[in-house]
Amino acid sequence: MSLEWPIIDRWLMGEAWVNSRLAQHILHLCDVIGPRWASSPAEAQTVAYINEQMRAAGLVNVAAEEYMLHTWKLENHQATVVEDGSRIAILPFNRCPACDVTGPLVDVGFGTPHWLEDAAKKLPGAIAVVNLGLEPFSPPVPMAYRLRALADAGAIAAVVVDRKEGGRVEYHSAGDWRDPGPDVHPLPTVAVTREEGIRLRKLAAQGKHLHITVSAEFYDAPAHNTSAELVGSAWPEQHIILGGHHDTVFGTPGGNDNASGTSVVMETARVLAQLQAEMGIRPGCTLRFVTFSAEEQTLQGAAAYVAQHYGASGDSPESKPRLVINLDELSAGSIKGLVLGFPHLRKLVQRQFDSMGDGLQCHVMAQLDASSDHFPFLVAGIDASHLWRWRFVGRHADADFHHEPGDTTDKVNVRELKEYVGQLARLLLRLSFIAPDEWPANPVTVAAVKERLEAERGQVIRVF
Ligand SMILES: [Zn+2]
Repeated sequence: MSLEWPIIDRWLMGEAWVNSRLAQHILHLCDVIGPRWASSPAEAQTVAYINEQMRAAGLVNVAAEEYMLHTWKLENHQATVVEDGSRIAILPFNRCPACDVTGPLVDVGFGTPHWLEDAAKKLPGAIAVVNLGLEPFSPPVPMAYRLRALADAGAIAAVVVDRKEGGRVEYHSAGDWRDPGPDVHPLPTVAVTREEGIRLRKLAAQGKHLHITVSAEFYDAPAHNTSAELVGSAWPEQHIILGGHHDTVFGTPGGNDNASGTSVVMETARVLAQLQAEMGIRPGCTLRFVTFSAEEQTLQGAAAYVAQHYGASGDSPESKPRLVINLDELSAGSIKGLVLGFPHLRKLVQRQFDSMGDGLQCHVMAQLDASSDHFPFLVAGIDASHLWRWRFVGRHADADFHHEPGDTTDKVNVRELKEYVGQLARLLLRLSFIAPDEWPANPVTVAAVKERLEAERGQVIRVF
């Protein structure tokens, strides 16, 4: 089949722009359904909505794929100054264990080694107050490692002061998800706003005590990823995945994180299905559109997806995908390109971008970034990527909203997302038509990834 790319491109960009369902999807996910904690009834509604929309768009093999999630429920949390009974507004970290602790407040600044040295005598039995941000000019230490150091020094809990101003605080995670067994809290950890942090530091200087209670429980519950396909016309047994997580933390509509990515997955699928229906153009290899569950719960949905489809140790029930593109937090300005986990597809992807003529760039991750659903694929040696607009914090104000009630639909920029849809459709279609013998072989082994992770362990991932 000869492909008339100028006509196809014009058609894809036009369809993405004029008939867009993005606004409808974002409103439905954020305002009709709302917070979408994996394993909750709201996740079930989300999965049903995505499946229904994919079927209506003409996708095939539409499925909700069940797995068992090790999940967490937060029941109550409270902090009281022992001396005067006044309350401190706290937000437990995501998956914080239950606790009931009382101790003197100790200010440990950024929790870096020189601070801990100064506070060493005071830390056993104490509640540490620590800045979330990185200490300027000091070697950067991930929060997970600073929390472990506090626990090792004898602290019984940590109060982490959020960086954001204006009374904002978000759900944070205590683990470094690159490490094995990431779901371990070295000590009970709660967050406070920057303003509440100032008050706590004064109380610490006065030798005051804090009483913290968190009631929460861990349990197993079924949860679901979603999947839908456009079957390839030439090499149906090979596939490329476009994915993004549909879940949120508690209490947030999840606009930027990640109604933006979920909606772009659904809409890119629709536009390509419509190309097939109206123009008779099917992709060369199969295109699979996946939404992941429990990204916010240590990437368990994507990890289950990898295990179910490709096997935990490389003995795949099905052949591994040619490439996985993960969409997470797209409220970051216009699309700029793609970041691959491994380098061997860089030239191939860049050639496609060059043929698209819009200046998009392909880069390669300097570190294996575990902050979203591409990571379980990378661990399995699968070519996975994310968009290099990833977290332009400071460059685009809306990208700073996630894991908090303020991540509302106004943080999602529908017209920018329309361009993401059009450009991703153009890229996916081009990639699908590359013949198997022209697709560079993936030389990455699971063992090599392990080695690389070991070498990068403990480093702060540079996001920019
Ligand atoms: Zn996210």
